[in-house]
Amino acid sequence: MTDTPSDKKSWRLRTRQVRGGLDRSPHRETSEAMYLTSGYVYDSALEAEQSFDGTLDRMVYSRFSNPTVAMFEKRLAAIEGAEACRAVASGMAAVNAALMCQVRTGDRVVASRALFGSCQWIIAELMPRYGIEVVFVDGTDADAWRQALSKPTRTVFVETPSNPTLELIDLALVADLAHAAGATLVVDNVFATPILQNPMELGADVVVYSGTKHIDGQGRTLGGAVLASEAFCKDILSPFIRNTGPALSPFNAWVMLKGLETLDLRVERAVANAQKVAEFLEGRKEVARVLYPGLASHPQFDLARRQMRGPGTIVAFHLAGGKKAAYSLLDHLALIDISNNLGDAKSLACHPWTTTHQRVSPEDKRAMGIDEGLVRLSVGLEDVDDLIEDLAQALTP
Ligand SMILES: *Cc1c(COP(=O)(O)O)cnc(C)c1O
Repeated sequence: MTDTPSDKKSWRLRTRQVRGGLDRSPHRETSEAMYLTSGYVYDSALEAEQSFDGTLDRMVYSRFSNPTVAMFEKRLAAIEGAEACRAVASGMAAVNAALMCQVRTGDRVVASRALFGSCQWIIAELMPRYGIEVVFVDGTDADAWRQALSKPTRTVFVETPSNPTLELIDLALVADLAHAAGATLVVDNVFATPILQNPMELGADVVVYSGTKHIDGQGRTLGGAVLASEAFCKDILSPFIRNTGPALSPFNAWVMLKGLETLDLRVERAVANAQKVAEFLEGRKEVARVLYPGLASHPQFDLARRQMRGPGTIVAFHLAGGKKAAYSLLDHLALIDISNNLGDAKSLACHPWTTTHQRVSPEDKRAMGIDEGLVRLSVGLEDVDDLIEDLAQALTP
């Protein structure tokens, strides 16, 4: 099928985004082909046997691999600077596979407290059912990490910046502590995107993405990916994915593959917009506090500058008037949509207390820094002056 030269190691990021993993068929199409096939055929029974025993390196079934999915995996790995990537059907399938492929009964898992609702569910609810000890720490507290990782641990899971409170984890510090405890460090890098932060450069072992967010970037498909060393992907992750079946559809892989071609352009525009929106909100009396790593008022502003190439596309803010004020703001928005999705070209706002984190207990929400006046805004690609005008009129209807 392939006579495309393999990726050049010297390619810079923008070239890797557009051409990484490209694998043209004999038709020599410009745009990557979408292989909507579940199976593959063999010219002989022996060829089938050799495809299964590994003598031949080829596709056997799309639950294991597919040419369009493989292009997406190679391109994302090239952008991230990871040895290998396995794509799955959603961000949560990626988090679940990255964690559950490693752990067994009796293991200890340490995680930062400020997590996306479903990530929190996997660690707090699912893992203990299988006899796994879980420990949550305040991710911003270095001493809490030192204490939690003073015992042998299997894996550490963090989200940085966290959803929705934009807390940062010092990745280099936690990677060192995790490794000293015998643990792998798994980083949910959804908010940062591979454009703004590459956790493996700071010592992380595994990076997970929800491709649903900035990678698609236009709100069309669900998808996810796990990036790690070739050895981890091949020996630990792949058996779990192949046999449990969270396979990514080739159609969704194609949408996200094309999304990667414009990822840096979209992320850079959204970051520039988010910075201006955050500065606007910080100057408003209705807003008690703005959480955005690009503001000097963010408690980890210096860490953001050290470990990220930009502060991200999500802004969260506490309204002085609590839930009533948050609902009033959302209901008066005329341009920005109310939606719990994020990383879209369209700006989207939501109320985490009653949506994304509805099922987290009130005590846990408060411990994560979520209160009833918190609004999360995913800043999109519109003209920033229109976004600011919309927020201004919705704050004082
Ligand atoms: C959305 C999200 C996920 C889950 O991704 P899905 O594609 O919705 O399954 C995981 N982590 C974070 C930080 C997210 O924002």
